[in-house]
Parts: sequence; C-alpha cells; structure tokens
Amino acid sequence: MSALHELNDERFASRGLRLWIMRDDLVHPELPGNKFRKLKYNLVEARECGHRTLLTFGGAYSNHIRATAAAGALHGFATIGVIRGDELAGKPLNPSLAYAAERGMRLVFVDRAAYRRRAESAYLDELRQEYGDFFAIPEGGSNPAAVRGCAELPSEIDVPYDVVAVACGTGGTLAGIAAGLPSDKAAVGFAVLKGDFLARDVAELQRQTYGETRGSWRVDGSAHCGGYARTTPELTAFLADFARRHGIAPDEIYVGKMLYGLFAAAHRGEFAPGTRIVAVKTG
Ligand SMILES: *Cc1c(COP(=O)(O)O)cnc(C)c1O
Repeated sequence: MSALHELNDERFASRGLRLWIMRDDLVHPELPGNKFRKLKYNLVEARECGHRTLLTFGGAYSNHIRATAAAGALHGFATIGVIRGDELAGKPLNPSLAYAAERGMRLVFVDRAAYRRRAESAYLDELRQEYGDFFAIPEGGSNPAAVRGCAELPSEIDVPYDVVAVACGTGGTLAGIAAGLPSDKAAVGFAVLKGDFLARDVAELQRQTYGETRGSWRVDGSAHCGGYARTTPELTAFLADFARRHGIAPDEIYVGKMLYGLFAAAHRGEFAPGTRIVAVKTG
C-alpha cells in the first residue's frame, strides 16, 4: 500500500480541482514504485518455469537495470544486464551500474547494432549460447507480466478520485493502471520521450496482456521538454518552486515532467471543475 497525500495548491484549488500524490516510490525499500510492480509477476513466472537467471536490457542510467539487479539479489536469481554502448566496457561504472554490479549483476556491454536486436528471438538465442539459459525481460521491463503488476495499483487508492496521472517511458505502467481502473475513472500518461509511438505501444501491451484494449486512457505528449532526460529552464524552475511549496523534490526525468504536464493541463482547463486527480510518484 502506498500512502496518498493531498496537496494544497491554489493553481488547482482555484479551478475547483483536487490533487493527491501517491507515494508509490515508497512501496518497497529497495525497488521503487513501478519497477517493483513491473517485476513482480516476471519473477513469479521465471520461478515457475524453473529459471535461475534473469537477463534484461537497458541504457547506462536505466532504473529498470538497477531494479532488476536488486530484485534478483533479493529473490535468489542471478542477473545479467545487457547494456547499450560497448564504449563503456572497461571504464569506471556510473552510480547506477555500480549499484547493479554490487547487487551481483553481470554487465555485458554491447554496441548499438547489437542492442537494436534486443527484441529478436535469434539474438536471445545467441545470448543463450554465450551466457547459458535465462528468463528474458524486455527493455524497461514492459511485458504482459508487468502490465498485470501495474493493474494492481488502482485498488490501493483509498481516496475518492476521478483521474490517475502517471509518467510514461515505455508505457507499461500506464497500460496496467488503465486496465485496473474502475469503469468510471480515467488515466492520463505524460510522455517523457519525444515521438508519437506511445499510444500505439500502450494499446499493443494491453492487447498482448488481455487480448483487447482496456480502460479509459490517453497520452499527453506535450511535456517531454525536448526528449528523454532533456530539461528546460521552465521545467527546472517549476520543480524548484514545487519543492518550495510542497517539500517534495521529484526527479526531472519522469515524475517532474508528469507534474509539469499535469499543472499545464490544469492551467489549460483540460479538467472539469470538481475533478479529483491522483498523481503517482513512480520513483
Ligand atoms: C521507468 C519509470 C517510469 C516509466 O515507466 P514505463 O512503464 O516504462 O512507462 C516512470 N517513472 C519512473 C520513476 C521510472 O523509473
């Protein structure tokens, strides 16, 4: 269960809106928020199929790589992280990768051409030849098991609400939350990457999981601030002001952009007066 706190912010109150922050970053001591939910049923499936090793993919700063390393260490799986960028091999590890290595993850650095093949079964076979048998989890952890894990989140919201807001990278978290919503509620995902692939990916993840699309949801593509891990002076100023007002300092990559986009949407009048919004702090 993740705690919910109501924020008193006149930019919402003056429009008749209410806003809660769901502290899903605190759902597990070592595995923040959505990464814990996304891994949960992957670990169950890996164990049921008799696997002892998890293999997954990510960039050098991936939260999912860190979370997989931590989850493997906690639950008795060996872990292999296939990391984008062969130029990183032999260099000192950044804090994310150092954390993963400390948790026992074997790091394999591959060039970009190899990394692009990460979803091909022929490439997974090549990796099995080299590293032995493993349970593969896709980049970002988004697959049907992850969607089912995230679909459990809405049942933990213990305040009256109408809309759930969440940051979107690969869209697995939005796909799950939307699928788990009661029919009178909706979800909005704020894309942190540039591009218009996300709505298609979310729909596809729901189809792979349930055989159909589910729930009322949409993707807001207006708050990416130039792309993944990019920032703007406006975003930085918004978050500094947010921290001053509310004592919460969200990360700039995911939660910060979601809040920035959410406040902009409220300002544009996208939510009817009376709308009660739960913003999920995923990390
Ligand atoms: C990974 C991550 C996300 C994105 O989740 P997706 O399921 O890939 O959309 C959002 N917030 C935080 C804090 C994350 O680490």
